[in-house]
Amino acid sequence: MNTPPDNDHTGIADAVSRLCRGFGDDYWLNLDTTGEFPREFYRAMADGGWLGITMPESCGGSAMGVTEAAIMMNTVAKSGGGFSAASAIHINLFGPHPIVVFGTEEQQQRWLIPLIKGEQQTCFAVTEPDAGLNTTAITTRADKVEGGYRVNGRKIWTTTAQVAHKIMLLTRTTPLADCAKPSDGMTLFYADLDRDKIEVRLIEKMGRKAVDSNAVFIDDLFIPEADRIGEEGEGFRYLLHSLNPERILIGMEAVGLGQDALRRAASYASERVVFDRPIGQNQGIQHPLAENWIYLESAYHMCMKAAELYDSGQDCGAQANAAKFLGARAGHDACNQAVLTLGGMGYAKEFHVERLLREVMIARIAPVTEQLILSYIAENKLGLPKSY
Ligand SMILES: Cc1cc2nc3c(=O)[nH]c(=O)nc-3n(C[C@H](O)[C@H](O)[C@H](O)COP(=O)(O)OP(=O)(O)OC[C@H]3O[C@@H](n4cnc5c(N)ncnc54)[C@H](O)[C@@H]3O)c2cc1C
Repeated sequence: MNTPPDNDHTGIADAVSRLCRGFGDDYWLNLDTTGEFPREFYRAMADGGWLGITMPESCGGSAMGVTEAAIMMNTVAKSGGGFSAASAIHINLFGPHPIVVFGTEEQQQRWLIPLIKGEQQTCFAVTEPDAGLNTTAITTRADKVEGGYRVNGRKIWTTTAQVAHKIMLLTRTTPLADCAKPSDGMTLFYADLDRDKIEVRLIEKMGRKAVDSNAVFIDDLFIPEADRIGEEGEGFRYLLHSLNPERILIGMEAVGLGQDALRRAASYASERVVFDRPIGQNQGIQHPLAENWIYLESAYHMCMKAAELYDSGQDCGAQANAAKFLGARAGHDACNQAVLTLGGMGYAKEFHVERLLREVMIARIAPVTEQLILSYIAENKLGLPKSY
């Protein structure tokens, strides 16, 4: 049953935490070994009404803001499931935002209701092998034909494409050379992931094995006009609407991984006795962990600040970028320190911190790298010349 959660922050954290307690360390460790998608967790989140937390009430969602979504995702990530848990549901929160803002009422009903109920899964295909961070250089083409478009091209790193029924796809409808601005001429679709026309090839990767990432080959895929979001040529601008929320959420998720790792490290440090005293009595062990706490706390509040700005309709570009940067750094440092605190056991899978360290690296790379964030801040906050 989809019961929309209510808008109380402590209540959200408590309810999500209760739900996550049903999925313990062994559950996540097992999926990290088998690579199977966390179906039971996903189902439980859908049944609890959480997959629609940011979606319109007219489609069965709860229409809450980034702030509430960030609290929810922080709680999920620090539950022990890390990015295996967070990435399994992350796409539902702001991935469909272009549909919410620019989709027709008919599209919203057709697409969002099954997503919120957990009956359909989707994936987000923007990155291309030959374009990298320069999204305007994508070459996946959508050519106009009667009734729709024919699409050919390649995407990479498309998360959950192995299990998705739908694909949010950014294409070029006008070649870059014919556009007044590089960001013109791109069109966004929400299409059926037709496996006769789309080959999805798994990428073996460093961590988060339970949530797949893929190379995607699109060969002569027909997409009806009814599956285009908004106007032709405006796709890039539509995507921009979801970028800041996505950065804030990734930042908060990384903080959650770091908080979980820190909790595990502190607990181990109080119990492990070497040279006749707990290792946590040594300042060499205490101080780095205390520093991790300080940085995680700062990153948490930066994420909340950015979320508050976004939810109140204010400009939050710099804060959202800073939130993602700080969250990823603080989360990564805490996971790294946790492994070191546990000594040899930090390297053992049964203590879980090595899994968190492998997973938290994602936040430093995706959806945007640290270099690009720093360039954004240099340009937009320090008035320095654009560097790329
Ligand atoms: C686990 C995972 C999941 C992902 N999921 C998705 C997904 O679902 N959908 C999707 O579309 N994408 C996804 N991505 C892709 C991700 O967003 C990209 O990997 C990321 O944006 C970086 O792009 P790139 O890998 O092409 O790096 P590149 O663009 O090749 O950059 C390589 C390095 O060069 C640096 N660099 C490049 N240009 C400059 C410059 N001008 N100045 C300074 N430094 C520069 C970058 O910062 C980076 O460090 C995922 C990636 C990972 C690892």
